[in-house]
Amino acid sequence: MSKMEEIQKICLNRGIIFPTAEIYSNISGFYDYGPLGTSIKRKLIEYWREFFVKSEDNIYEIDGCIVLPEKVFEASGHLKSFVDPIAQCKKCKSIIRADDLIFEKTGKFVEGKSPKELTEIIQQNKIKCPTCGGELSDVKMFNLMLKTEISPVGGKTAYLRPETAQNIFTSFPRIFRATRAKLPFGIAQIGHSFRNEISPRHFIVRVREFNQTEIEMFYDPEHQECPKFDKVKKNKIIIVTREAQKKESEPIKITIEDAVKKKIIPNQWMAYLMAKEFEFYKSLGIPEEALRFRHMLPEETPHYSGGNIDLEIKFDFGWKETIGNAYRTDHDLKNHMKLSGKDMTVLTDDGRKVMPHVVEPSFGVERTLMGVFLHCFVEDKQRGWNWFKFPAKIAPYTAAVFPLVNKDKIPEKAEEVYETLKKCFDVFYDDGGSIGRRYARADEIGTLFSVTIDYDSLDKKTCTIRDRDTTKQIIVKIDELVSVLNKLVNGEIEFEKAGKLKQ
Ligand code: ATP
Repeated sequence: MSKMEEIQKICLNRGIIFPTAEIYSNISGFYDYGPLGTSIKRKLIEYWREFFVKSEDNIYEIDGCIVLPEKVFEASGHLKSFVDPIAQCKKCKSIIRADDLIFEKTGKFVEGKSPKELTEIIQQNKIKCPTCGGELSDVKMFNLMLKTEISPVGGKTAYLRPETAQNIFTSFPRIFRATRAKLPFGIAQIGHSFRNEISPRHFIVRVREFNQTEIEMFYDPEHQECPKFDKVKKNKIIIVTREAQKKESEPIKITIEDAVKKKIIPNQWMAYLMAKEFEFYKSLGIPEEALRFRHMLPEETPHYSGGNIDLEIKFDFGWKETIGNAYRTDHDLKNHMKLSGKDMTVLTDDGRKVMPHVVEPSFGVERTLMGVFLHCFVEDKQRGWNWFKFPAKIAPYTAAVFPLVNKDKIPEKAEEVYETLKKCFDVFYDDGGSIGRRYARADEIGTLFSVTIDYDSLDKKTCTIRDRDTTKQIIVKIDELVSVLNKLVNGEIEFEKAGKLKQ
């Protein structure tokens, strides 16, 4: 069983993430989150909000509708070009995404190629149906948007949004006026997106309903500089350049500043955001060697784009994009202005009417979560159980509270401690089975600390805290427990110095 399959099994068994409406037949590509999954996902999103929105003075968050009228997607180009190439097996009738299959079989990226070209590649490489080995049909294009009708008598076609970005563009003039913003400024949105994916797979990596966190950073094309660029310019990132992809050579480690100088990154705004992305993912417990940026090849880059760079995470099955960074220029605002007839330009302080340019980082929450699950998963032979080393920001529980025994007033004391901690942290109470078994259950879901209430808790008013990562234990005063846990969670004190080390 691969590590991802093992994690999927745990997610099912612990009710973390499981197929939607699973009591009926499985509709693939849709997943529900149970209590633990909901907590982890919510914390991840909140951490993203803190890191990318609240830490900036000029990024505003909106919450737009999921259903959008057809016109929006006519302007954005999704109606025409949000398509994937498909081929059908003539024997078993399964539908296959042609570009992915070609990549799997030949290692070549074929994005942007016409159906005719893809059909030829399939024939030249004698690629057959991966399920039954049957012959494949000619390649056709398939639009990935989920369509719906508005009003009981129908007639008004609408779509479930395939990205959160379009609400941002359509509401841009209003938000710009309402916030009295000045360029440069950003609009962020967190929410559900829908894509009728041809082959959902790899658990939550490719699904049909998912969450995105996106920012559109609007700036004056005549003043492209990012005021905070200096803060990150010495940061190093790992990037697979176009040249490296051609020569199949190694990625390079380069400073943000040099990547802009060498025109690998098209502008300071994208560079600034990319530097933050790299730090964000590392702080989530994903090691540097499992992270890389990839400069998209010209054939993968939309015609209007000034440059696209994906952040990829290394999964069991290979590298996969989890953030798409795109320099969308003025493409979206210009097209919405054309189709809606509404003015999308803004007046600058020096009296110029400009159509802002846009840099967009587009994160997938599910793919990020899967990356975090995978890289925080510890296969621990010594302990005898596997566990998640989730960072404090997203661990579903800060602490578990255990009564050592279920007698002699110890449960009463433990419940008292539990009630106190509940007001400040996410905690759970567990009095079932041996302490060892309880540690295992707490570790398995990434609980940071386990607090045990024993006989000393009654006499000396102390308790024991066990650290998930090291299994070391310290004794602290119950009165000081909240303050100690706070310091530990915020990284203000080392575990061994936070109390009396238990030998
Ligand atoms: P792919 O080529 O893998 O289909 P994409 O290039 O279409 O991805 P974008 O349109 O750039 O993806 O979307 C931005 C982000 O949204 C992606 O980096 C990914 O994290 C997330 N995302 C896109 N499609 C899916 C999906 N079907 N399931 C889960 N997340 C997705």
